[in-house]
Amino acid sequence: MITIQRKPVFAPQWNLGSVDEHLPGVVDVKINDTPRGGRTAPAGSKSVWVPGPVIVGAGPSGLATAACLKQKGVPSLILERDDCIASSWKLRTYDRLRLHLPKRFCELPFVPFPADFPTYPTRKQFISYLEAYVQHFSIKPMFGMEVRSAEYDPVIGFWRVRANDTEFISRWLVVATGENADAVLPEIDGISDFQGSIMHSCSYKNGDDFGGKKVLVVGCGNSGMEVCLDLCNNSAHASMVVRDKLHVLPREILGRSTFGLSMSLLKWLPVRWVDRFLLLCSRAVLGDTQRLGLERPKMGPLQLKNTAGKTPVLDVGALAKIKSGHIKVVPAIQRFTPEGIEFADGRKEVYDSVIFATGYRSNVPSWLKEDDFFSKQDGLPRKPFPHSWMGKNGLYAPGFTRRGLMGASMDAHRISDHIASQWNAKTRHLSLEL
Ligand SMILES: Cc1cc2nc3c(=O)[nH]c(=O)nc-3n(C[C@H](O)[C@H](O)[C@H](O)COP(=O)(O)OP(=O)(O)OC[C@H]3O[C@@H](n4cnc5c(N)ncnc54)[C@H](O)[C@@H]3O)c2cc1C
Repeated sequence: MITIQRKPVFAPQWNLGSVDEHLPGVVDVKINDTPRGGRTAPAGSKSVWVPGPVIVGAGPSGLATAACLKQKGVPSLILERDDCIASSWKLRTYDRLRLHLPKRFCELPFVPFPADFPTYPTRKQFISYLEAYVQHFSIKPMFGMEVRSAEYDPVIGFWRVRANDTEFISRWLVVATGENADAVLPEIDGISDFQGSIMHSCSYKNGDDFGGKKVLVVGCGNSGMEVCLDLCNNSAHASMVVRDKLHVLPREILGRSTFGLSMSLLKWLPVRWVDRFLLLCSRAVLGDTQRLGLERPKMGPLQLKNTAGKTPVLDVGALAKIKSGHIKVVPAIQRFTPEGIEFADGRKEVYDSVIFATGYRSNVPSWLKEDDFFSKQDGLPRKPFPHSWMGKNGLYAPGFTRRGLMGASMDAHRISDHIASQWNAKTRHLSLEL
């Protein structure tokens, strides 16, 4: 028999170590045996029962979900592998980063950005906004808790979530580890022979150490373009590998943000027409990008985003540097040499450093023991938007729609509504006999 004994919610006299500070109501679980195939916690690990949902990840998606739940009176426990909130923004972004989209499209639920913030807040401003958000809702994630496995136990009808030496048992699991959890580094011939420095853009802070150096940036998305621009502004000689076709759009058209304008037009016009309009405007503002070696895909930018999730680059100045020759566009890499690179066209160049702006991937397949809702291939929900926020058995996924912070906020609302509808008196005063 399994007995999960519940003490009154928010009982301050409990002493359950560090967990209770983060979510009052957490209780040690006495699992006498594992009848009917129920799984046990690994030897030596402690089990705690969490009354509300366990949220994995204290990035914007996890925080937004915790806030929405709190507004509905549902407590939750956030487990975060790093030692701070929003670690992607604090630890893995470059100094010059600003929100790519205007602030009104990046607000988390219930809290607008301060009126004196610019249209495109800086990284530091965005972080300060998130810090204030956490204070406002008294959200207290447990830091240094890397979730290494999570599995639904059909016998007890709960999720078993393991982090460090603790097993958290909850009816609901919210996966908020993001689309960008792990940096992607391609394997390229000869890479170990290269004598210069190699890093991923997640470790790049600024161009201070690159002045006068020859730097190759691999990748031409928003990060690749911005790192190149930053290098140029710090007197480095930057080249950028452009392997695939891509859409570059001006960040603003006719004095309005390209994103905002697209959103407005899409209310009235089919996506094909909006794409045509965007491409005409881009041509007028930026000129013919194909002549710079940046070939455009056949499919329009919004259609491509909707079908393949490929985000267009919003230009913040890199294109002018390509036009002026300060950033060189180079083809795909064939192999590394000890001094530099041999390109696909046979040309060889010497470089001091290579920075991979080759993106990120979800880490969900490495820890979630489930392959119905999340794809093992890319770690993203199999169902497309708008059905990608909820799986089976109390599994939820905010922030996986490739729709940025706005998408994460929409998911947070939906998820909290759904969980709150189950969070009833019975749940709150649970005393289970299974
Ligand atoms: C450079 C850059 C600029 C962007 N700019 C914008 C923008 O302007 N506007 C916009 O709308 N979107 C933007 N985005 C996209 C997106 O909104 C952000 O990436 C946002 O941070 C996503 O939030 P998230 O909470 O889903 O994921 P993340 O911010 O990545 O947070 C996930 C959290 O989960 C933690 N975690 C991961 N695995 C585990 C584990 N196993 N156990 C415990 N914790 C774990 C991580 O440490 C992290 O703290 C940008 C993305 C990037 C990379």
